[in-house]
Amino acid sequence: MTQVARLEFVGPVAVVTVDNPPVNTIDATVRASLTEVLQRLERVGEARAAILICSGNTFFSGADINEFEGPPREEEYRTLFNRIEALPFAVTAAMHGTVMGGGLEIALACHHRIALATTRFALPEVTLGIIPGAGGTQRLPRLIGVEQALNLVISATPVDAATAVKLGFLDQIVDGDLRTAALVYAQAFLDRGGQVRRTRAMTVDPASATAEIVERATQTALRRYPHRQAALTAIDAIAASARLPFDAGLRYETELVNRAKGTIESKGAIHAFFAERATRKIPGLDSATVARPVRKAGIVGAGTMGGGIAICFANAGMPVTVVDATEAALKRGLANVGKTYESMVRRGRLTPDEMAKRMALINGSLDYSELSDSDVVIEAVFESMDLKKQIFAQLDSLTRPGTVLATNTSSLDIGEVAKATRRPGDVIGLHFFSPANVMPLLEVVRTPDTSDTTIRTAIELARSLKKTPVLAKVCYGFIGNRMMEGYGREALRIVLEGATPGQVDTALENWGMAMGILAVFDMAGIDVGVNVHNANADKYPPDPTYYAADQALHAAGRLGQKNGKGFYRYEPGDRARHDDPVVLEIIRARARELGVSQRNHTDEEIVERCVYPLLNEGMRILEEGVALRAGDVDAVWTLGYGFPRWRGGPMFYADTIGLRTLEQGILKYREQFGPMHWEPAALLTQLAQSGRTLKDWQANRTGGGA
Ligand code: NAD
Repeated sequence: MTQVARLEFVGPVAVVTVDNPPVNTIDATVRASLTEVLQRLERVGEARAAILICSGNTFFSGADINEFEGPPREEEYRTLFNRIEALPFAVTAAMHGTVMGGGLEIALACHHRIALATTRFALPEVTLGIIPGAGGTQRLPRLIGVEQALNLVISATPVDAATAVKLGFLDQIVDGDLRTAALVYAQAFLDRGGQVRRTRAMTVDPASATAEIVERATQTALRRYPHRQAALTAIDAIAASARLPFDAGLRYETELVNRAKGTIESKGAIHAFFAERATRKIPGLDSATVARPVRKAGIVGAGTMGGGIAICFANAGMPVTVVDATEAALKRGLANVGKTYESMVRRGRLTPDEMAKRMALINGSLDYSELSDSDVVIEAVFESMDLKKQIFAQLDSLTRPGTVLATNTSSLDIGEVAKATRRPGDVIGLHFFSPANVMPLLEVVRTPDTSDTTIRTAIELARSLKKTPVLAKVCYGFIGNRMMEGYGREALRIVLEGATPGQVDTALENWGMAMGILAVFDMAGIDVGVNVHNANADKYPPDPTYYAADQALHAAGRLGQKNGKGFYRYEPGDRARHDDPVVLEIIRARARELGVSQRNHTDEEIVERCVYPLLNEGMRILEEGVALRAGDVDAVWTLGYGFPRWRGGPMFYADTIGLRTLEQGILKYREQFGPMHWEPAALLTQLAQSGRTLKDWQANRTGGGA
């Protein structure tokens, strides 16, 4: 077995160094290796103090998520951590990097904790539908009280070292070389004849665990994680620390974490986690295909998307040239880039120095020839086929063969754009989402001619830009927007039938969507959607009610947040939405013209009618091979469209409710509204009728996976 935990002595101090790249996950090898080291320490008896430290970029970053699906491991973690705590001499955890979950829990079992000032700590388990299960719910409250432990676990967000000291689970912040500082710390402890202090022996401060505090935490959890269980379970476990003896508390924690692992919430969140990581694997792509290096980038168009994409490159440390057609547009674009960076500096996300360095990587120009030495050029001009073709012809003649020529188009046929070049193999879609510098998703769209090398280069580029790439074949709307079509259609149709925008959005948000679809339309600009629909009228079904509410608001000059009037009313400088009776008048007038009668809707109907078409289109996307895997469709929606991660993504959700239920639901609405929009996908019918799941179907395909 590889010895990932190394033991050495510096005088009487045992130094245990773990090296398990890339992020020192506490996997089975680490546990076995640490156990061996512990056996030696228990046997030899020459240590008077010990230090637990990790090589590389971070102290233990957490438990091994790959093990979540297998048999429970809590017992193993518990025994190991208890053994560290039981050592007869003081063990100091010396930490750096990002200490999460099990990584923090092992430190809590040590007797002292010190860290570099840049270290960050978090217990993010509830976002994975589980709870800290390696003693965290019992040790943390003993160190910082129940109230603060609840805050940390419910918020699931990292705190820095200064906060950790204030809270009381970190003893000291050190600087310089961590190992040296830890040795000094351990020696000082020995010199003053300090006694071993075990977390398990501490008592929980009862004032931190009153019924009011627990109730307040419960209310926060209900608000923050509606319909979800994990945070409530974590509260239960943490509150128990105040009434149960330590070992009974640990047993209770194990019982609760195992229960949590059985929930759909945790299965969904863990599926999403793996699905998002699996998108980079491209079955069918020759493994000998190597990505071309990308060291310099070009962007055509300094608008909303071009500017955001430029920031992505600069953030990755890559020089990027942005070309626009007019001086005014270029200036405006670069000014917007500057504003984005300034706001990052204001919020403490970036130092002014770092901002200057990044801005210096972005070079603005009106001269296309400055793009000639780029390794990749991304076009982000207006959505016009003629304009894009003209630009691609130009890029073809001025860049060298092998330069990736990418378009950020949302709706145009990329194969058609590629025809403007003499090298369609180099052409690909790189569909960023707005704001491009924030959104983690990148749809990588291949045409039938895109070469494997171009695909591989795009996938690797996504990694440099810290984006999750999802490969799609060209079709109208690719994966995400294509599925959005039916989702938006029903939301708009429901308001045409009399529901208020607030009712539709709230129903969707309560179900788990990050933002209701009508509020999304307001944010993106109602004119943007209407223009796309008008330009592509031939692609939509002949239904006069189709997106009619959207069109009606647009005709009344309501463009969304940008002019303070959309499906909602907005105050200047504020994104908070307010109901607006004028909206209802406009939509009701259109409904009368169209002969759509008014009625009430339950939240259940709203959610089913909006979500079922989305799932159905996802099935079509899979049957056509537009997406490689069901998990890829899930990743697009969890990362790009605010679909609840704990529901796993749309395809995972389809399996959760059952394909038969989905098929029957679609047939029920077909009965009510006719077949134009409500025809079950062939794959859905086939799987539902044979009693199979998508997971099953996926596993039986070559290159199956998440
Ligand atoms: P935008 O209108 O904000 O910016 C377009 C920019 O292109 C302008 O600065 C314009 O001056 C410039 N331009 C026009 N002709 C040019 C030329 N010949 N040479 C150089 N520059 C030229 O548009 P946007 O919202 O950034 O959208 C750009 C592209 O990205 C479109 O294809 C759009 O469909 C796509 N897209 C947009 C979004 C979004 O949310 N805005 C999301 C994904 C994809």
